Amino acid sequence: MKLSRVLIFLPVLVLLAGCQPHGGENCEAPGDNPIRYELTAMDTFMTMTIYNQPGSVAQEHLRQAAGLLQELDALLSVTDAGSEIYRANHSGGETVPLSEDTRRLLEEALALCEETEGALDVTIYPVVRAWGFTTGEYRVPEAAELEALLKKVDFTQVGLTEDGLTLPEGVELDLGAVAKGYAGDRLMDLFRSTGMICSIVELGGNVQALGTKPDGSPWRVAVQAPEGGYAGALEIVDKAVVTSGGYQRYFEQDGEIFCHIINPASGRPVQNSLASVTVVADRGVQADALSTALFVMGREQAEAWWREHPDFEFLLLEKDGTAVITEGLEDCFSLYGDWKNHPLEVIRK
Ligand code: AMP
Ligand code: MG
Repeated sequence: MKLSRVLIFLPVLVLLAGCQPHGGENCEAPGDNPIRYELTAMDTFMTMTIYNQPGSVAQEHLRQAAGLLQELDALLSVTDAGSEIYRANHSGGETVPLSEDTRRLLEEALALCEETEGALDVTIYPVVRAWGFTTGEYRVPEAAELEALLKKVDFTQVGLTEDGLTLPEGVELDLGAVAKGYAGDRLMDLFRSTGMICSIVELGGNVQALGTKPDGSPWRVAVQAPEGGYAGALEIVDKAVVTSGGYQRYFEQDGEIFCHIINPASGRPVQNSLASVTVVADRGVQADALSTALFVMGREQAEAWWREHPDFEFLLLEKDGTAVITEGLEDCFSLYGDWKNHPLEVIRK
């Protein structure tokens, strides 16, 4: 772990010319005083940057935040034998007591599984494992094997009561699609509770911002292009920006690409017109869950779902190079670099 003061430059953030603030509170300028903290948790590289705090105070807040991330990692890891999720997955049907955090995340995640009609399904773990995504020993399972495993994939089987969490034998949870989003929400709550009004965190590609940039302008968050580099930039204030992409983790066999996001209806890696889905929402857990679920749904269904659930916006990058945004992003998204020549479509209500 490294605690360092650096110039403001985060790998997924492009800091371009300023633009008008869209609301939110401004940090007091001058003297932004950025302090950045880097760590690895939840199998991913994370950075947190806070502004306008005296050095020792900032460092204390960041240490607390890092501690929180390590705690969440220890609770939610699917591979760590001490985690609550691991214990539930290996409980043989017994009820396992839960911490407040695991309970809250599960409640939110199960509600989103329901709302997305199972496009998000946190019991997908047995299938994810069968394809080798948990170990890197990739394989293409037989249809019969997938059919048998899919009998254990059903989020409605998850029993969450005051006593704890009960999973029927063979049902296993994987919170990989939502845990970092939840962690982002917890960090924002923690920072807000200290009176902080200006910070940004990047949790393995999930970006979440509190307030505006120190000068009062929106944060500019770059969106990765599937082929590398950046496809566009989003201006945000007080939002989470989360991308799910087939290019993030995949393997290739006999000329076919198999990505790490599974369609729970078929048990097979998603194959549709989408290269990635980026969701912009108030809450990290919502953005994280929806980026995964909309990727599963594909463009048409994602559009229909957004029309019925208007409390978020999205950006799709299609494999054919088209960028598609919902109308709420029209004033805060711009294509970037080579992507300036790509078609940009706007979905309207
Ligand atoms: P994300 O990168 O947030 O889209 O999450 C992808 C991760 O969530 C994968 O690596 C799996 O561990 C898990 N996952 C894959 N497909 C699904 C799904 N349909 N619903 C819930 N979790 C999934
Ligand atoms: Mg996700």
